[in-house]
Amino acid sequence: MTEASAPITQDVLTLPRKLPQTGRTNIVGLTREQLRAALVAAGTPERQVKMRVGQVWQWVYHWGVRDFAAMTNLAKDYRALLAEHFSIDLPEVVTRQVSADGTRKYLLRIAGGHEVEAVYIPEEGRGTLCISSQVGCTLTCSFCHTGTQKLVRNLTAGEIVGQVMLARDDLGEWPEPGTGSGGDRLVSNIVLMGMGEPLYNFDNVRDAMRVVMDGEGIALGRRRITLSTSGVVPEIARTAEEIGCQLAISFHATTDEVRDRLVPINKKWNIATLLGALRDYPKLSNSERITFEYVMLKGVNDSDADARRLVRLIAGIPAKINLIPFNEWPGAPYERSDWERIEAFADIVYNAGYASPIRTPRGEDIMAACGQLKSATERARKSRADIAAETGH
Ligand code: SAH
Ligand code: SF4
Repeated sequence: MTEASAPITQDVLTLPRKLPQTGRTNIVGLTREQLRAALVAAGTPERQVKMRVGQVWQWVYHWGVRDFAAMTNLAKDYRALLAEHFSIDLPEVVTRQVSADGTRKYLLRIAGGHEVEAVYIPEEGRGTLCISSQVGCTLTCSFCHTGTQKLVRNLTAGEIVGQVMLARDDLGEWPEPGTGSGGDRLVSNIVLMGMGEPLYNFDNVRDAMRVVMDGEGIALGRRRITLSTSGVVPEIARTAEEIGCQLAISFHATTDEVRDRLVPINKKWNIATLLGALRDYPKLSNSERITFEYVMLKGVNDSDADARRLVRLIAGIPAKINLIPFNEWPGAPYERSDWERIEAFADIVYNAGYASPIRTPRGEDIMAACGQLKSATERARKSRADIAAETGH
């Protein structure tokens, strides 16, 4: 997957392949309501089911236990019943690469042999896990590597939650049963900024985030979760009401003419329509501010005039502007803006009263930075000519 440079370390894990269809239901990713229904269907008496949901939930999501036999506060025959009807399955880790800066990129295999990536970014006092919501992406943003991948399928809620659990496995973050201590939070934040458009897989993303936010389990608060969307306007209000997480918008341009080319979904929901939906978000979700992501592309969207238009457009929206130096990938039709240009742009935005951090690219040596994700086996990359035809470049 690293056409550009060799990773610092690369463990190729050869985990046993999963058995063919066992007919068992995977518990991972079921909401509490779904787990309740599944336990009843498997023969749990109604009068016990509330307690059983709580117990199983805690084993799976608080302690990280994968084996029903280890659920020692359940009667032996109930453990056997669970094992007969259920499994606790995570995606398979195909490779794990560790960057010189500590960033970890996981290539994961899911049912059907598809592959997705997740990236763990350690920072001072916190750690952010960037997870995927789809295999590939149906959208074709012209600067994004994922958008060149043809094959697309939605991840299940289990496959989304599974990414969080695998990262905790790899980081050794589950508490030791019996100790009662949670230890430090290594995965302290989650960003839905990996492969895919999360709002085109709304129900599964919502269910997965409900599992991750549940206070009896992984317990990451809604303010520690950021969902990034290219601007699927009809789902923005639902995101506020049904998930309530932080919102990031892939804005990237200040005129419809340029945004149509960079983020083609703009042809469906243009800048004015998008901003209309965003104005309501903070109130609906009771969150503080929206992050505007803005990829810096040399000579395309990085002028002083762009910066001034940007602050005029978002006036009245509590916002932070995240400037992302373009991360290159093989065959990309753009270049990163010069550093001085990015700083000049940031200054204009900052002087207008908005935080304007420049995102430091992380894990570049393992192609783990924003927009570089694309599974290794999906070599059916669209040609430059295809991209040009779609984007008018
Ligand atoms: N589909 C969602 C989330 C995934 S992309 C979305 O588009 O918002 C996460 C962020 O990385 C988005 O802001 C995206 O526009 C940006 N991005 C994509 N390709 C990039 C690249 N090559 N360099 C820098 N940022 C990129
Ligand atoms: Fe999809 Fe986001 Fe990439 Fe656009 S930037 S192609 S929406 S993953």
